[in-house]
Amino acid sequence: MSKIRLEAISKSQDRERIPIEEKGRRSELFGVNVFNEERMLQYLTKDALESVQSAIFSGSKIDRKIADQVAESMKSWAITMGATHYTHWFQPLTGATAEKHDAFFDLLPDGRALEKFGGGQLVQQEPDASSFPSGGIRNTFEARGYTAWDPTSAAFIYGTTLCIPTIFVSYTGEALDNKAPLLRALGAVDEAATAVAKYFDKNVSKVNATLGWEQEYFLLDKALAVSRPDIVMTGRTLIGHQAAKGQQLDDHYFGVIPDRVLSFMSDLEKECTKLGIPVKTRHNEVAPNQFELAPVFEEANLAVDHNLLLMDVMDKIADKHHFKVLFHEKPFAGINGSGKHNNWSLATDTGVNLLSPGSTPMKNLQFLTFFINTIKAVDTYEELLRASIASASNDHRLGANEAPPAIFSIFVGTQLSNVLDELEGVSHGKLSPEEKTELKLNVVGKIPEILLDNTDRNRTSPFAFTGNKFEMRGVGAKTNCAKPMTVLNTIVAKQLIDFKKEVDILIDKKSLKKDEAVFNVLREYIKTSKRIRFDGDGYSDEWEKEAERRKLSNNKNTPSALQVLTSKESLDLFRTMKVMSEVEISARKEVELETYIFQLQIEGRMYNELVYSYIIPAAVKYQNELIKNVMGLKDIYGAAHKKLTDGQLSLIEQIAEHIADVKKQSDLMTDARRSANRLKDIDKKAFAYCDTVKPYFNKIRLHCDKLESLMDNNLWPLTKYRELLFQK
Ligand code: ADP
Ligand code: MG
Repeated sequence: MSKIRLEAISKSQDRERIPIEEKGRRSELFGVNVFNEERMLQYLTKDALESVQSAIFSGSKIDRKIADQVAESMKSWAITMGATHYTHWFQPLTGATAEKHDAFFDLLPDGRALEKFGGGQLVQQEPDASSFPSGGIRNTFEARGYTAWDPTSAAFIYGTTLCIPTIFVSYTGEALDNKAPLLRALGAVDEAATAVAKYFDKNVSKVNATLGWEQEYFLLDKALAVSRPDIVMTGRTLIGHQAAKGQQLDDHYFGVIPDRVLSFMSDLEKECTKLGIPVKTRHNEVAPNQFELAPVFEEANLAVDHNLLLMDVMDKIADKHHFKVLFHEKPFAGINGSGKHNNWSLATDTGVNLLSPGSTPMKNLQFLTFFINTIKAVDTYEELLRASIASASNDHRLGANEAPPAIFSIFVGTQLSNVLDELEGVSHGKLSPEEKTELKLNVVGKIPEILLDNTDRNRTSPFAFTGNKFEMRGVGAKTNCAKPMTVLNTIVAKQLIDFKKEVDILIDKKSLKKDEAVFNVLREYIKTSKRIRFDGDGYSDEWEKEAERRKLSNNKNTPSALQVLTSKESLDLFRTMKVMSEVEISARKEVELETYIFQLQIEGRMYNELVYSYIIPAAVKYQNELIKNVMGLKDIYGAAHKKLTDGQLSLIEQIAEHIADVKKQSDLMTDARRSANRLKDIDKKAFAYCDTVKPYFNKIRLHCDKLESLMDNNLWPLTKYRELLFQK
């Protein structure tokens, strides 16, 4: 056995649980490392506090004097908390977060030292941005980018660093990150939803999108994880024969959490709680060594920041507990991969969830308005939503044989489907008093009691209504939620604007009453968005055929999924909603394609290395042992050896065939990669990687896995699935 595999197994078996003290209440720990409202109250003057609050509420600008004050108090607080450095914490298009630390420490001209942090440093920083992907934005325009404070997400202390959430933009104003477009989309949906919510309650002055993500992940012993070069380099196992046991016994899901893992989880949750991440749920997931963590939902921008922070904290805490976290969407073949469900809704500043049915017909009309407009928005822009979650790693789930399918559809459940069917029959124009009463009593009025037993949840649906929110299930475990949230909130904003225009025309020009106008417009939306509603089995072949008839998109890989980004409809949408300019969208498409290519390129190179440096040498070694054995038997038994060496000879030949095949496939793959690399056009290159390089991966894998099953366990160089997934 390779030394590294042997050592990894023995290390992982000797691990002790790291005990974590659980004292005090979690609620007392909540947000102690965050410069939240409570701290601001304590540290800021009244003027400064009001200015920050109004920036948070309405996006107003904070002037420089106030910024100086805020910076001063943030610094005082941070220093009492033991912070020595500060950083602008931002989300470059790579998908991860980035930070550049500067010390508070500074020198005066006379050489005296002091701790300095002014409004200028709070509001703006210039990281050396040249190494972040920009999709060409900074090449064509201006070389530099800067980060700018986002006061809607509170600063926090991590370790000894004060982290200030920021957007990252070029000097010409183009967003170079995932946060800036998200903030614009959230602004758009706020404005559009507030205007519509005012039909039902004049007191509403702000609507926040809410997001509750559910993070799935795998946890491996660190020594075992790093013993696999493919996991280290690509985040997943490129080869590996399946273990005798997988997830078929369902003995992991919701089972007892292993001790060492529980320690890790407690430690993680404590750290998250201090950082103001409201973590709540933890449990085993379906696959062995797979787990999930979910917080209480929050305002979407904050929830996105918290998810990114969580992923970072998880890496660090896992390391302390000698684990490695895998966020890859498909680390192991043959068992479930990891996703990140995005639960989404809209909430008013008056405390109402707009996707929650209420106790009166009026509240339910409000619910139906937002419910049906969301359905209509998803129907119009389903392909864009698919594009927002496309990545090389998520392609292993969407469109492969894993949940959910690449086709977007919406599950609403039988009862709500019935309500929609009834509303479809509403008369055109004015409604008779009888019809109004009937609608109020028997259709709209019935909704709350109906939803209480709306239990027939469909786990195969990529976009499901779950009682008081929609759940978007295709988001990948690694994905930055800002991407799908930007698209979802933009399309709903656009839809609500269109809706309001139509309703207002009916009220002003056709002198319909407000509720009549609303019913009239909703009726048409129900009719025209029918194709997106599907309550059946999303994994079935019939659905794939049916979806094609309905002209729903079914983009099974990233290059095809991304094409829609630069369609006329998308460009118009993002431009009119002021979320992204054509330059910004094209840049994102380019970065996504580039990332896709790089990821497949790395996997391709890794396959090559595995084949030549690990698999073939090991197979040859075993083959030599067999050959030695055959020769020995021949020496002893002479002509009679044939009967005794049948098995060995057949193994020698099988191994020889697999060696020849795996070498051939690997070489063909390398050739295909070289031709793809020669392509200048990025679209063509991405498609070449997808269509001509990637298909070799599984062929190579097949031979490697066959060899693994034929060979002496002691000579196999790589840590096996059985050891990675079942060693406790
Ligand atoms: P389950 O789906 O497992 O039955 P819940 O319905 O309680 O559990 O919620 C699942 C997730 O949905 C949680 O992470 C929660 O934070 C989130 N969630 C609940 N309500 C909302 C909402 N109004 N907006 C956004 N997310 C929500
Ligand atoms: Mg869920």
